[in-house]
Amino acid sequence: MMPTNEKTYTTAARFMLHGGDYNPDQWLDHPEILAEDLKLMKLSGSNTFSLGIFAWSTLEPEEGQFHFEWLDSIIDNIASIGGRVILATPSGARPAWMSQKYPEVLRVNESRVQQLHGGRHNHCFTSPVYREKTAKMNRMLAERYGKHPALLMWHISNEYGGECHCDKCQDAFRSWLKVKYADDLKALNDSWWGPFWSHTFSDWSQIESPSPIGENMVHGLNLDWKRFVTDQTISFFENEVTAIKELTPDIPITTNFMADTHDLIPFQSLDYSKFAKHLDVISWDAYPAWHNDWETTANLAMKVGFINDLYRSLKQQPFLLMESTPSAVNWHKVNKAKRPGMHLLSSMQMVAHGSDSILYFQWRKSRGSSEKFHGAVVDHDNSAENRVFKEVSKVGETLGKLSQVVGTNRPADVAILYDWENNWALDHAQGYGSETKSYPQTLQEHYRTFWEQDIPVDVITKEQDFSGYKLLVVPMLYLASERTIARLKRFVADGGTVVMTYISGIVNEYDLTYLGGWHQDLRDVFGINPVETDTLYPSDRNAVHYGGRSYELTDYATVLENHSADVVGTYEQDFYAETPAVTSNRYEKGEAYYIGGRLEEQFHRDFYQGLIRELSLQPVFPIAHGPGVSVQVRQDAAQDYAFVMNFTEQEQTVSIDAKAKDLVTGEDLSGELALAKYEVRILAVNG
Ligand SMILES: [Zn+2]
Repeated sequence: MMPTNEKTYTTAARFMLHGGDYNPDQWLDHPEILAEDLKLMKLSGSNTFSLGIFAWSTLEPEEGQFHFEWLDSIIDNIASIGGRVILATPSGARPAWMSQKYPEVLRVNESRVQQLHGGRHNHCFTSPVYREKTAKMNRMLAERYGKHPALLMWHISNEYGGECHCDKCQDAFRSWLKVKYADDLKALNDSWWGPFWSHTFSDWSQIESPSPIGENMVHGLNLDWKRFVTDQTISFFENEVTAIKELTPDIPITTNFMADTHDLIPFQSLDYSKFAKHLDVISWDAYPAWHNDWETTANLAMKVGFINDLYRSLKQQPFLLMESTPSAVNWHKVNKAKRPGMHLLSSMQMVAHGSDSILYFQWRKSRGSSEKFHGAVVDHDNSAENRVFKEVSKVGETLGKLSQVVGTNRPADVAILYDWENNWALDHAQGYGSETKSYPQTLQEHYRTFWEQDIPVDVITKEQDFSGYKLLVVPMLYLASERTIARLKRFVADGGTVVMTYISGIVNEYDLTYLGGWHQDLRDVFGINPVETDTLYPSDRNAVHYGGRSYELTDYATVLENHSADVVGTYEQDFYAETPAVTSNRYEKGEAYYIGGRLEEQFHRDFYQGLIRELSLQPVFPIAHGPGVSVQVRQDAAQDYAFVMNFTEQEQTVSIDAKAKDLVTGEDLSGELALAKYEVRILAVNG
């Protein structure tokens, strides 16, 4: 996709947002703390504060008793120091009186056990009472603050997630199914392969959501339930924003997306490609475990880059980092402090990939309960002198010099296809290796080479436009609808290059396998027919001979029948030794590659290097460097902004083949430049 270089301001602000979740509702009995905060806000270079995220019990301590005075003065005080406010709706957690008086708001888990009041995100998205209460609260917030000059954006709820299996949700699910299957129960039974284990339904009321105490092996049901959960969450969200849209049509709306953290992969429970259409701005909460003991800093940085490129590509515009920690979090297995320099580096990486903000959870550290040790700008010592506060101030100072970067994006010739539904279907699939499917991780492996070489990548979803890309990488697209297959075929016919891998094109959108072997369109495009997939034990190894050398194969090997393709790689061992493993096929104006097995990192480097040369894929702004350095570029019509980042523990030398200006120090730079451990430089180059 080749977007224009025009700036896209996703918020009204023409400056980088810096600040984050501020919870003054925890400190109303401590006016001296609130007064001190205003001083520390300025000292830390903070300019934007997310308010009210968990403030419902302070806003409405008893049903119908509303208290907004405290919030009035907090917003006015922030405005008085030139700050802006991202105002939250408080639906992420509700007061105890509501759960007590209206038990229907309580969530029922998949084992059909109603949950007690507690925690957060513990509510039914279908409950009419909860919808009415949130709508009323949100209307009051919009009426009271909608015209406040400090209001920058709406932050709807917080980290939507989870699912409810109560009777109301079951009814809503059945209604959703009736719409989807046009009131035709036979169509549903056919799609879900009903006669299997005698699972044909004779009445809609027999249908229940998947459950460990009931049915969870009907894959069509599982998939439809996941889709329903996304739609029902969006429906709840739309109910939340009705009054907000009506009263404040010019104030942008976001909700904060997440990532699954240990492996740092996209959040799995909701289909964000659907949710994105309902938001003005994508924002997300990034908590990579920097300095962990299972991977290099550069590997983790690559994975952060992947998610950034996915979430940026959802709307093809800059996004916001809504939450991050200035140092440790409180919920990893080991909550390690960011080493000196890492906070600036990791923050600038977000900006480099398209974020127009660095916001934190949390601005002031909580005194009690589960988040009392979660990193914050202001610690319990209340000091502006500690290391973390100083590193935050440095980020604030740096962001202050990046106003011209706000609203900029950059084009990409390479796209990787990511699909939430595919991941759900593949996870449910009882076959292959139960612990080795690793769909998101596989995409990251294919992303790696481009990241290492600073070649811009969009990570797109199946409904997005393919036509602007030279290369489309489609690993493990197990679930591929007729429509998606037709779109891939068109892309190649029109001159695109596609790379597909093992375990692709197996089932349709109902999770039913294609009959008669691989889809004819795919056979035509790829010139092959995958006939059998071999799943390897973790200790098993095979190898593929490609380009004159041997590459290790683990987990999966697909046996291919060749029709018209060029065989560019062959298996080395087992009953399929010397048969095609990697193929290339000319189809109309384009080229289609198929990689039959899961191959080592070096294979991807060498394979994609060939395509990089052939398709003239290039970095936006070439800077020569060694491994572990990443250069990401944002552009406007006049300039390139290159973020040169050292994700290693050693000094690195990079070579700049142009005249550049350091946006932070103002120095003119060209030729060799030394980057200290974790150092980042931000360069402006005339484009
Ligand atoms: Zn429910």
